[in-house]
Amino acid sequence: MKVLVIGSGAREHALVRALTHDPTVDAVIAAPGNPGTDALALNEPVDAGDPEAVVELARRHAVDLVVIGPEVPLVAGVADALRESGIRCFGPSAEAARLEGSKAYAKEVMAAAGVPTGLARVCTSRDELVEALDAFGVPHVVKDDGLAAGKGVVVTDDREVAIEHGMACLAKGDDATVVIEEFLDGPEASLFCICDGQRVVALDLAQDFKRIFDGDEGPNTGGMGAYSPLAWAPEGLVDDVVTRVAQPVVEEMARRGTPFAGVLYVGLALTSRGPRVIEFNVRFGDPETQAVLARLDSPLGVLLAAAADGELDDHDPLRWRPESAVTVVLAAEGYPASPVTGIEIDGLQELAASDLAEHVHVLHAGTRVDVEGEAPQLVSSGGRVLSVVATGDDLTRARERVYEAVGRIDFPGSHHRTDIALRASRGEIRV
Ligand code: AMP
Repeated sequence: MKVLVIGSGAREHALVRALTHDPTVDAVIAAPGNPGTDALALNEPVDAGDPEAVVELARRHAVDLVVIGPEVPLVAGVADALRESGIRCFGPSAEAARLEGSKAYAKEVMAAAGVPTGLARVCTSRDELVEALDAFGVPHVVKDDGLAAGKGVVVTDDREVAIEHGMACLAKGDDATVVIEEFLDGPEASLFCICDGQRVVALDLAQDFKRIFDGDEGPNTGGMGAYSPLAWAPEGLVDDVVTRVAQPVVEEMARRGTPFAGVLYVGLALTSRGPRVIEFNVRFGDPETQAVLARLDSPLGVLLAAAADGELDDHDPLRWRPESAVTVVLAAEGYPASPVTGIEIDGLQELAASDLAEHVHVLHAGTRVDVEGEAPQLVSSGGRVLSVVATGDDLTRARERVYEAVGRIDFPGSHHRTDIALRASRGEIRV
C-alpha cells in the first residue's frame, strides 16, 4: 500500500512513523511534510487546504490511501474531493467535519444523540452573552463557535474577561456566535475513536496539557505535552465512551445523511457525575497522537484503510505495547503570543545515536532546513517546534527518559513544561 499523509506537524510525523512500521505499507508520501518526515517518506509540497491540488498529488503518485491530519483541509472539503475522484481517503466529509468546525452544531448533534455533555447556550448578542454568563456563574466557560486552533476557549472567574472574549468572538462576523457552557470539573481525558460511518474502534486514552506553563498556568496553546495510557481512569471507560458517545454520534450522523468516517476525537471531563464530553475534534489530536501511536502495536495502515472502506467490523482487536509513553513539546521563545523563528537546533543526530534512542524519538513540527550556510542547518520555523517522545515500563521511567532527551537538545530560547505526566506518575489524579 502507498499512503499519502496530508499535513506538516508532529502529529503527521507520528502518523508517518507508525505507517512505516506497518508491513502492508510499502511507501509513504508526506505533503507538505517536514524535515522529520523527509527522513522516512517522500515529502511533496502541496497547499493542504486546496482540494484540487491534493487530488492531483494523490493521482500523480497513484496512492492507495490518503490520511488527512489537520482540521483545515477537512473543513475545506479535501476528503470529499478525494472520494469524488475515487481515491480512498481516511477523514470525514466537510459536512461531518462540522462536529469540530462549529461547537454549536456539535452540541446539537450531542443533544439529538443523547450524549452526556455540559449544559450550554449559543449566544448571538451581548445581552444573551451576559445573561448566559450570569445564569451559569463562575468559573465562566466562553467558547468561540468556529475553528480556533485550540485557542478559542477562555475559562475564567473574571466576568469582564469573559464578556470581552465573548464579544471578540461575536465581532468575527454578522453570523458569529459564541457558546457559553457550564464549568465541568474533574480530570480530562482524550479518546480517539476510529469510525467507518457505522462502526467504531477506539484507540487508548491519553491526557494532554493545553496550558503554556507548569501547574496549568497561563494561556491555552495547541498542546504542550501528553501521555498514555491513563492508569487512573475508571475501568471500562474506553468501552463506556464508545457505547455512550461515539457509537450514538456515528448513528446520529448516519441518520442525518452525513456519515462520519475518520477520527472522532472525544475530549472528556471525568466529573463526579460521570464522563461529560467537552469537545469533539474530527482528526487525530496533537500532541496526544504522538504518545498514543508510540504504544500501538497493530498495523496503523490496515486500521485506517479498513475505516476508509467501511469495514471496521472485520477488524482485529487492537494490540498495545505494555508501556507508558510521554510526549513533551519544545516551543519557541515567545510562543504562543509571538514565536521567534530561525533559531538553530542541534543535538538531534547525537540523540538518535545515543543510549536513549531505543526508547526515545523526536518528532518535528515547526522546523525547516536552512541551506543558505556552509552546511544544511535545522532551524525553527513555528511555535511548537519539536515533540520529544519516550516510552518506559511506567510513567516515571518514560518521564525520566523524555526529560533526559529534552536536556540534550540544543535549542536556544526554547521552553517546555516540566510537569507533563508528573501528577499521574505520582498517583495523584483521582476521579
Ligand atoms: P476545547 O477547545 O473545547 O477543547 O476547550 C479547550 C480547553 O478548555 C479544554 O481542554 C478544557 O481544559 C477547557 N474547557 C472547555 N470547556 C470546558 C468546560 N465546560 N468546563 C471546564 N473546562 C473547559
